[in-house]
Amino acid sequence: MSELNQPISGNDLARFSGPNTFMRLPSASLLKGLDVAVLGIPMDIGTSWRSGTRFGPKQIRAESAMIRPYNMATGAAPFDALQVADIGDLAINTFSLKDSIRIISESYDAILTNPVIPMAMGGDHTITLPILRSIANKHGPVALVHVDAHADVNDDMFGEREAHGTVFRRAYEEGLIQPDKTYQIGLRGTGYAATDFTEAQGWGFQQFPAHDLWHRPLTDLGAEIRRDIGDRPTYVTYDIDSLDPAFAPGTGTPEIGGLTTPQALQLIRALKGANIVGCDLVEVSPPYDTSGNTALTGANLLYEMMCILPGVTAR
Ligand code: MN
Ligand code: MN
Repeated sequence: MSELNQPISGNDLARFSGPNTFMRLPSASLLKGLDVAVLGIPMDIGTSWRSGTRFGPKQIRAESAMIRPYNMATGAAPFDALQVADIGDLAINTFSLKDSIRIISESYDAILTNPVIPMAMGGDHTITLPILRSIANKHGPVALVHVDAHADVNDDMFGEREAHGTVFRRAYEEGLIQPDKTYQIGLRGTGYAATDFTEAQGWGFQQFPAHDLWHRPLTDLGAEIRRDIGDRPTYVTYDIDSLDPAFAPGTGTPEIGGLTTPQALQLIRALKGANIVGCDLVEVSPPYDTSGNTALTGANLLYEMMCILPGVTAR
């Protein structure tokens, strides 16, 4: 029998009981021996419209109790190969965005002294900037798969240079990502200028607007991106608002005409084999998620990302 951590089975302990950890995995305070650390960053003070993502990690964990260990579509068996635990939430300062960003950076610097892949549950998208600072500090500029309705390349918001809509301009300026290996998938909606997204194309970002992806499987696009990335260290940041609000209404800045849940699965599954060094799932806002479907979808997308991590085998 495997000595690796296993999620608690819904046949052994009712799903509505037990620890509120991701997939009811053991919680861990030490990173030694872990291959993957799931953590929460319960923060919404970087958001510009509806708040509520501070409750994201708690609700994603609650909905993740439904997920079973084996992926019936791909055969992936993450818990046969990887030691995974939930290391809890970062102690952000809910009164200060700047201080929270510092706390996330310092926490990730400490986490990354271990050979572990961090999987973060947001939180608003601001969390990805300090995460990328630490990731780049360790791995150098990474390839970035960024799935989002928004490019998040504003120069500032209310004069603030660090907020959920400025993350990838800062990441570009600071050299945290490889611009020509940065893929923004699902962009759409309205802008302040017709050129809002195109400046980033000039930096080298490869953009795939939602309207070009409507009614189209994303398997081929995912495979194309996978080939283009090669063996570069890769970070995946998944904004739940990339999905259409019909599938994921519980989010801060919803945009109509988005991706479908099957497209999200196709895209993630096609990235299998990439050298993923970290990922996150952000912008789940439980107060706007009356059915729990958004958190459920977020939990499943995190699981799907776990299923494509290096070392995961298929049964
Ligand atoms: Mn975003
Ligand atoms: Mn977004």
